[in-house]
This record gives sequence, structure tokens and C-alpha cells, in this order.
Amino acid sequence: MPTMTRGISSAARSLGRVARLPAVPIGVPGSRPMLRIPAASSSFAASPLLAPAIRRLPGSQPLRSLASAAAPASAATATTTAPAPPAGAVERAHGFTLQRQQYVKEYGSHVLLYKHDKTGAELISVLNGDENKTFGVVFRTPVADSTGIPHILEHSVLCGSRKYPIKEPFVELMKSSLNTFLNAFTYPDRTCYPVASTNTQDFYNLVDVYLDAVFHPRCVADRRVFEQEGWHFELDSKEDPLTYKGVVFNEMKGVYSSPDSRFYRTVQRALFPDNTYRHDSGGDPEVIPQLTYQQFQEFHAKYYHPSNARFWFYGDDEPVKRLQLLSSYLDEFEARPVDSGVDTQKLIHTPRKVTEFYAAGDGEEGEQKAYVGISWVLSDTPLDVETELALGFLDFLLLGTPAAPLRKALNDSRLGAAVIGGGVDDDLKQPCFTIGLKGVDPQDAEKVESLIHSKLAELASSGFSASAIEAAVNTIEFSLRENNTGSFPRGLSLMLRAVGAWIYDRDPFTQMQWEDALRSFKSKLSSGADVFGPLIRSFLLDNRHRVTVSLLPDAGLGAAVEEKERAALQAARESMGEEQLSAVLEGTAALKELQETPDPPEALQCIPALQLSDIPSTITKVPTDVTPLSDGATLLTHDLFTNDVLYMEAAFDLRPVPSSLLPLVPLFCRSLTQMGTAGESFVELTERIGRKTGGISVYPFTSAKRGSEQPVAYVMIRGKAMSGTSGDMVGLMRDILLTARLDDRERFTQMVAETKAALESGIISGGHSYAGKRLAAQRGLAGWLAESMGGLSYLDFIRGLGKRVETEEGWQGVRGELEAIRTALLQRNGAIVNLTADSATLAAAEGPLRELLAALPAASPAAPAGPLVSGLLLPAGNEALCVPTQVNYVAKGADLYRDAGYQLSGATYVVEKYLGNTWLWDRVRVVGGAYGGFCSFDSHSGMMTLMSYRDPNLLDTLEAYDGSAEFLRSLELSKDDLTKAIIGTMGDIDAYQLPDAKGYSALVRHLLGVTDEERQTRREQILATSNKDFKIFADAVESVRGPAGRVVAVTSAEKARAVLEERPGFWDVKKVL
Ligand SMILES: [Zn+2]
Repeated sequence: MPTMTRGISSAARSLGRVARLPAVPIGVPGSRPMLRIPAASSSFAASPLLAPAIRRLPGSQPLRSLASAAAPASAATATTTAPAPPAGAVERAHGFTLQRQQYVKEYGSHVLLYKHDKTGAELISVLNGDENKTFGVVFRTPVADSTGIPHILEHSVLCGSRKYPIKEPFVELMKSSLNTFLNAFTYPDRTCYPVASTNTQDFYNLVDVYLDAVFHPRCVADRRVFEQEGWHFELDSKEDPLTYKGVVFNEMKGVYSSPDSRFYRTVQRALFPDNTYRHDSGGDPEVIPQLTYQQFQEFHAKYYHPSNARFWFYGDDEPVKRLQLLSSYLDEFEARPVDSGVDTQKLIHTPRKVTEFYAAGDGEEGEQKAYVGISWVLSDTPLDVETELALGFLDFLLLGTPAAPLRKALNDSRLGAAVIGGGVDDDLKQPCFTIGLKGVDPQDAEKVESLIHSKLAELASSGFSASAIEAAVNTIEFSLRENNTGSFPRGLSLMLRAVGAWIYDRDPFTQMQWEDALRSFKSKLSSGADVFGPLIRSFLLDNRHRVTVSLLPDAGLGAAVEEKERAALQAARESMGEEQLSAVLEGTAALKELQETPDPPEALQCIPALQLSDIPSTITKVPTDVTPLSDGATLLTHDLFTNDVLYMEAAFDLRPVPSSLLPLVPLFCRSLTQMGTAGESFVELTERIGRKTGGISVYPFTSAKRGSEQPVAYVMIRGKAMSGTSGDMVGLMRDILLTARLDDRERFTQMVAETKAALESGIISGGHSYAGKRLAAQRGLAGWLAESMGGLSYLDFIRGLGKRVETEEGWQGVRGELEAIRTALLQRNGAIVNLTADSATLAAAEGPLRELLAALPAASPAAPAGPLVSGLLLPAGNEALCVPTQVNYVAKGADLYRDAGYQLSGATYVVEKYLGNTWLWDRVRVVGGAYGGFCSFDSHSGMMTLMSYRDPNLLDTLEAYDGSAEFLRSLELSKDDLTKAIIGTMGDIDAYQLPDAKGYSALVRHLLGVTDEERQTRREQILATSNKDFKIFADAVESVRGPAGRVVAVTSAEKARAVLEERPGFWDVKKVL
């Protein structure tokens, strides 16, 4: 599970447990292996426009419950008087006493703060109408070293407990519950355990398992849990070399292999030399093996106590029941002082420079460059809400869009490939600010530094344009009011926000109440006062608690780190007597045996489960009207309550674009919003988008379509606006599509460099998705397309493109190709427009929409490109993709439709989920020590892919994959087990969605030809899943082991070679970095 280190990287890091990471990354929603299409909100998340600043504003991530959504959307008119507290808002019950109560109009919620009389534990109980109920418990867990104790504990407490004495209750819940969120996070100073569900009984079950886990875990009495999740010596025979194993150990090896993570780690250590933040709570792989079991036990005893806990409940469940549930766990404890506060880092008045190194390839590319950034700690006293809000605005104005002046200055400088740091970070006790570039020539480090200083100085005196401020105000206000947290529960988002103050003994209520601060800040802005100049000066320019970090490439570092580990293991081995060595041998064998022995069925009964009768037997339909328009265009409308927001997508078929130009499409999409239009510059266009909408993004959408050789491929333009400005949004879309300039060579060259940097970081930190795409590109055209627009082939293409645009002639060729894409793409014929809003808003949008369509050519003047041909596919074969890394990502796959003649059934989803959560989880993660082992079945293409994540093994993992079919075949699930597997699958199928996601899913189903009739059939098949379905799927999975199965791994060159020595000719070795 993730650790949250500071820096923008932490915000970007997936919150999902690895097994749940999308197998095919976002932006390609159709290729997710589910009938539901979960990536609905991802393209906004990925949109550069809305990305950085917003998450830092008070209350920005959180919720607006469906009940509160009925409140007026505009603050100016919101004179809501606080409704009377509901009956459940009791003063005193179950050993809790109410301390404070407030109606928070921003979220239409009654917020109650309780104290547990006996232990002093605090509880925030949020009462509203949101059916997506959330619970969380948070402990303060500061560290005194980098052994990763809190992180290992976070993993370990979920491995069995007093009331749930099985190996992994967490995994049982993943298999069998309807949860809308289930995970845990380790921060530098706290550990969070959140769950969410829309089903009340399921919610209580999750809460009970989590409470028992944190207070009575098995891991404090059974050191094998610590060894499995943390670290242990492994030795299979006396002749073998000694190795380290452990899930967190390998997870952190993966983190430390990523230069981006190393940069932020270095920044944090340099900014906080005197308090707990200088250590790594996630664990430094070099230090983790120093951790003893006793230290681990003591840490739990000290910090996992009610007196050190903060509890959170949120949603429409019964308020008194919350108190009762908690008291059943808290009453057995006594109050106790727990020293867990974080010392404040005093501001130091001497700027410092720090140089560190990262493991680079051997530089054949000649482009292994430095990371250079400046960071500040902004304050050593807490900031008031208005200052926090002002900082959020400042951050957005400096960096929030590609047109923001500081970001633009860094991009325009060409000193580096991509901006890093991302500005204000307020996740920790003291806010920080970090900004810099990666891909910098080490010689230019000082130029980067002085550019940042001079641009800040310029902005401190000149200020920001009125139009930029207006755009920032609208964008931020839109985001606060829309409160669109995507697939992340709103209650959890609000919890993380409140905890950010609460955990430091500051007032958690102020974090939820931004309305007054926003109003007074806006009036200050409109008074013409110089708001931002003083902030830039006091927090940045005049603030001497400043660190400049340079992270330099070192081609020898990877080998040196491995050598150091080998030497440490060698020394450990030599220090062991014969007896100790035998003990390690025995310990290894005993642990493996335990890991491979399933829990007895009686024991598994302890996990509370729902009944099939709790599951609705019919699908939830999204209201959809399909209207054919002139010239072959289609309008889809979804009449849903959206609180006055219009969500709109327009999709244009990519088929007329010649296949040779398809890899250019992602950059074509970005260019549409990042070069200006006929009538306005890039900056002006960006500001107009900010003033009039909640964001507009353009991106390619591709997927296989079941039963069709040809993929589904579109360019989508997506936007959202308040109903009053929906006409402006449609007008913007028209200008962007028809008149966007595609002639800015400078900007294009920057985007190429940024893309290259992002792909190169991505393959190190998330190699499984690159490996999986590579496999799919051997088998089908949709897979080929996705790989060409986002995989390793894309990286090759981007590298070539970077060389092409170096010359004027090359650029003119590219420019012509961009125009050719536009010409081929834009036509009414085949265009699909998708609108989601209430009926009045939909009606108001119709006029502008017809104007937009009328402005498009009726049909593409380009010659038809013809269908894609199978000659484009990657040649079939095994591949090793080599990068500097200490871990592996191993993928193996085949096409079950074509290689095994498999027929899709609803039961497929049940079996696939079961395989991932049992066999692969157990063999690859639990026994193998990888951070993740999972599988992905793309029901549209038939591609079945088994994958590992941050894996110490290669061939052993393949062996585990090859056992999948036999495992499934040998299963004979009891009725209870089947029911659990079915219910868990239903939780995925019926995932909670906000209205925009519902409308988007309906669009994707329309594009892929998935009808409600088919969904209903699949649902019935899921509910009727039997043991026979497991056996049928087992036969199909056999094809992955057989000759059709191919392997692609992301690994280091040394490991790729070692495999060849053992299995000559096993694979082609391709050097990537
Ligand atoms: Zn973890």
C-alpha cells in the first residue's frame, strides 16, 4: 500500500492498492477489463488545466452530498440558515460526549466532534445525505529512523486479528465486499485506515474488520507476518546465496529506483534537517533490514492506542450506531498520554545546496540529465485560513496551467524537459513550496535557479493580469463548488483535508469552511489591493529557509547499490554460525509452508458477508436519449441532476486518419489547447477556458470492440461549465477544434520533451503497464494503437520526433501532419456529442451545440484511410525491456478469444477477480515478495494478462503464472465462497459514480456497442456463477501457459542477461534507458 511522501509526486502517486491499479493506464478507459468503465473522471485528472493547484485549497478535495447539492450553487445567493440538527446528533451516548457541533453549509453537513470519555479518543461524525459512507481511523506515527516501521505496520495489521484470525482479512474483504474504497496510507507522520461503502451492512462489516485489525492485530504476536510484509532472510538451500525478502522491502526498492521519488526524498530530508521528516517513514531499502521485531512490536504498542487515534464517520448512516461500534473497541482501553507530536522545524536563515545522485542507464542515449529544484519551508507557525486560501490562489496563478507565468517561463527557457515540484504542498505540518526542472544539463543548474528567482521577483512587482486572476477565481471556485472527487469517495477526500489540521491539534472545522474566507478574499482582490506581491516576497523571495537540490545521474550507482546489498548479505552470512544458518533455512521453509497453506474454510467464516439477496438483480440504467442529427452525427443526452453543471463530450472518429499519423494524435490533442486560436494567444485562450468553464481537455480514446478486428478510436474533447456559461464553453470548443493554431514550433518542441520525460519516468515506476501494452500490441489492432500512443513504441516515436523538429524542414513536415490530422478528423459525419445535465440545462445547450456542429465540415475531405491492417502488429515473441531498476515488472499474456476460443460470460469477471486475489496475490506477492501480483482480462479484446509489480523475481513469477490454470481447475468452491466472490465482483460492476461519470460511462458503452440488454445478461451470469465456470476459464487460461503465451518484462540489463544464461534464446533484449 502506498506511502505518502511529500512533494507533488505524492499527490500524483496512485492511492490504489497495486492489485487495483488499472492494468491499462488511464486515458484508454475502454480497455479496462470490466463492463463498467471506471476511468470516467481520469481525463480531467490528467488534464493539465485542472491539475496542480486545486487540491491544496481548504476543502477542495471533499464532498458535496447529494442532499446538499440541492443548495444554491452560487455563494453570493447562498443565505442558507442552518437546519436543525437531526435526531441522531446526540449529546452523550456509548461513552462519548459531544464537544462541538456545527452546520457546515459548504457541504450541507452537520459536523459533530465527540470525545470518548474513558480514553480521550476524538471522533468527527459528519451527518448528511451521502450514501457513499466513509470511515477512517488515523494514528500519529512519527519515526526516528528510516526502517519503515509505520509502513510495515500498515501492511501487517491487515494480516489477521483477534476477532478475524485468518491470514489476510483485507484480501477477504477485497474479494467479497461491496466497498467503494478499501486501502491504507502511510504518511511521513501518520497512518490512515479508510473504508467506504454505499451498503450499510457492508459498511459496518468493513469498519469492524478495520477496528479489530488496528487494535488487536496478529502481527504483534506472530513474527512471520512482520517477516512477510517487512523483511526477512531467505535461504532455500545452504548452497544458495542469502537474500532479503519482504513486500515493503521490494515496494520501496521500486520507489528508490525512481529518480523522481529520489528527488522528492532528497528535498524532504534537506528541508527538515531537525525533525521526523528527515527520515523516510516508508523505509529506505538499505535501512529496512536493521529493523528488529521488538522495535516493531513496541511501535504498535506505543502509537496504536485510542488516546493517539482520531476517528471519522461520514454519510447517511445512523449516527448513534457509530458511537456504539466504536465504544465496543475503545471501552477496554484506559487513557494514556502518547507523545506523538511532530516537532516544528525552526526556519533556518541560511540557504543551502544539496547534491544527490540517481541510478541512470549508461548514457548511450546521451540524455541522462539532472533534476534541479528550489524548495522552501514557508512558515514555522500555523497559517490562518485566508492566508492558506491566498497561497492556493498564488500557486494556481504561478503554476496552475501551462500558460501560468512561472510554469511557462520554465518551459520556455528550454533549460529542461519538464517542470517538477509543482508549487505549494501542505500535506505536512508546515507548508512547503518546490519548483524546478528535470532533464537539465548539470552545467545549467544555476541558470535554473536564477530563472526562478528572477521570474518570482518580476511577478512580485508586476503582479498578475486581471484576466489571469479572474480565470483563477472562476476555476478554483468551480472546483470547490463542483466538488468532483472522481472515483475517490467525497467523504474520504473531506477526511484527509480535515485530518491535515486535526492531526496537528489545529481546528479541523476551519478546513471545511472556505465560503467566508473566499468571499473576503475575493473582495480584497476586487479592491485592487496588492495581494500577491507581499506573499511572493515574504514566503519565497525573502524566505531564507531555502534549499536548492541537484540530483545528478550516476551510471554506476545501480551496480554500487546492488553490490552494497550483496556485501551486507555476505557479511550477515559470515557472521552466522551453522546453527543460525540452519535456523534461516528452517524459517524460510516454515514461512513458505504457512503462506502456501490456505485458511481452513471454518476460519474464513469469521469474515462477515452479505447475501446474494442483498444484491439488486437488475442493472442500474443511465437515462439516455439518442437523437440522430443531420449528416450522420448523433446526440446522446443524460437527464441527471448535476447541480447546474453541464458536462459535455464530443467524439470524432479517428478512422479517417492514416495509420502512419496515429502516433502523432496525442500531441495533436495537446496542441489544440496549447498554441492559441486564430483570434487569441495561448495565454488568452487558457484564461478564457478558466473564466468560462471548469476545464476543457482533448485526448484520444481507444479500445477493442468485441467481435471486431478494427478498434474503436476517437478524439474526444471534454468540458464542463455552469449552465449559465454553457454557450461559452461550446463556443470555446468550436474555436479550439476549428481555429486552433498548430504552428508553434517552440511550444511543440517543449511538449515533445515533456512527453519523453514522462514516458521515461513512467516505465521505471510503472513498468507493468508498458509490458502489458507490449503484449497486447502483438495480438490485436486496439492493443497496437494503445502501444503506439502510450507505450514503448510511442517513446521510440517521440524520440524520433524530437530529432525531426530540430530542423525547420522537419518541423514544417510535422506541422503539415498536424493539419492533416485535423482535416481528416473534423466532420459531422460520425461525430457523437454526449451531454449530461438536468433537462433545463440540456435544453439550453442545444442551440449552441447545433451551431458547433453546423460549423464543422459535413464530411471529411481527406481520402478514406482504409482499415488498419494486421501487418502493423508487433512481431510475436518474448521481450526484456531494460532500464536501470532494482525490481522487475513481469507480464505474460494471450488472447483467450482467439488462442483458446473462449466465450465471454458474466462469470468471467468473477473468476478473473478470484484468480487475482488468491493465486496470484498469494504466489507472487505473499510468497514471492513482490509488491503486487494480479491479472487483467480485457473483455473487449480477449487479452488475458498476468502481471507483477515491483517484483524481485522473474522466472519464478512465470512459474507461478503457469500454475494458474491448474489452480482454477482444482478449485471446488463452497456455496459461501462462491457467494462471496460474486458479491465482490458486483461491488466492482456497480461502482459508485458521480453524475458526470454515469454520463461518460453511458457514452463509452455506446461507442463499444455494449447494450443494457447485454449488461443485464452479464449480470444474471455473474449471479449464477458456478464451479463449472472456473473450470471453463481454467481451460482458456491454459493458452497463456501454452505456445500462444508471450512474456514481456521490464527489468535491468543484468537480470535480462541472467535469464538468457539459464534459458538461452528465451527473449529479445531491448535497451530502453
Ligand atoms: Zn506499501
